[in-house]
Amino acid sequence: MKTILPGQTIGIIGGGQLGRMMGLAAKEAGFKIAVLDPTMDSPCGQIADIQIVAPYNDEAALEELGEVSDVITYEFENIDFEGLKRLSEIAHVPQGADLVRITQNRITEKAEIRQAGAPVAPYIAVQTFDELKDAIDTIGFPCIVKTAFGGYDGKGQLKLDSPEHLPEAESLFAHSACIAEAFVPFIKEISVIIQRNAAGESYCLPVAENIHKHHILHESIVPARVAASVIQRAEEAAQKIADHLQLVGTLAVEMFVLENNEIIINELAPRPHNSGHYSIEACNVSQFHQHIRAVCGWPLRKPKLWASSIMVNVLGEHVAPLIRVIKQHPDWSVHLYGKAEAKEKRKMGHITIMTEDIENTLQEIAATGIWED
Ligand code: AMP
Repeated sequence: MKTILPGQTIGIIGGGQLGRMMGLAAKEAGFKIAVLDPTMDSPCGQIADIQIVAPYNDEAALEELGEVSDVITYEFENIDFEGLKRLSEIAHVPQGADLVRITQNRITEKAEIRQAGAPVAPYIAVQTFDELKDAIDTIGFPCIVKTAFGGYDGKGQLKLDSPEHLPEAESLFAHSACIAEAFVPFIKEISVIIQRNAAGESYCLPVAENIHKHHILHESIVPARVAASVIQRAEEAAQKIADHLQLVGTLAVEMFVLENNEIIINELAPRPHNSGHYSIEACNVSQFHQHIRAVCGWPLRKPKLWASSIMVNVLGEHVAPLIRVIKQHPDWSVHLYGKAEAKEKRKMGHITIMTEDIENTLQEIAATGIWED
């Protein structure tokens, strides 16, 4: 396991908030940061030592990033697999390129989760709209059709309740192949962030319970309000997947919890995850510190939760009302990512509140009116 030490440079592909928080964690220990992003002064660019401003798949820019960096990581999975693979031949990319290839396509992702021995909803991969009709004969209604590539925050997917809705799914095939999967009558959504280094040492962060609004993560509550058996199943499944994929770095595993306390894996993200931001304040090691430790070949720290906590996302429309009430909430840890424009529904920041009374704090958050629809 190659060790990267303070004073050396970590190259990050992608300059968004995840890159910024990774970079900030690394800079605490004295690393230097280089970032590749198409925009000057991106959230990560603002805190980086070196900015390379170019598209993510620009061959020369990737090479330049490789030249100035002692280790390369990435903050999102929709980067060009071939470009990352070529980069891994000339630079130190401890996470490899394969995890990106697998997780940027729902078809390969689901197949790997299954091979790892973790549960997924019944699904069928379909190349064309005609194939979808046959698949639904098997899967039945209600079902969800998702594009294999490029979907996020509920984009590129459609719930079909009955045969009359079927024509609506045709347009999904304009972009890519799809999967049809059974609708899961879940009672909660949770996520496990598992982190592993090249020596095979791995730890899960405390399991988060996730509440979405309009398909975008709204709140993460930690610890998740689920039975101990659910936590155990969730961590075991994450461990199986991480070992199967020979993970190096971070894998976020999103799951559904059923009424009988069984779990179903929904999807994977091979990077720090929005539902792990609470760990910056609430744990002895944040998901960003642990990620840096993993890719730099350091031993990992066993995570410990200091206090139960709630993370609330701050979207474009929440920024101004949040700033108006900051002075009334000394217990809110405010994070804003330095994005130039507060567009509606754009993730601009988050707050974390450590609390001994989750229910009461949830009510207080709602009562501010900031996150009303
Ligand atoms: P995804 O893009 O796969 O993360 O899905 C976005 C959201 O859609 C999830 O967080 C769920 O709330 C919902 N969803 C996705 N797949 C299913 C499913 N098979 N059954 C029920 N709800 C789902």
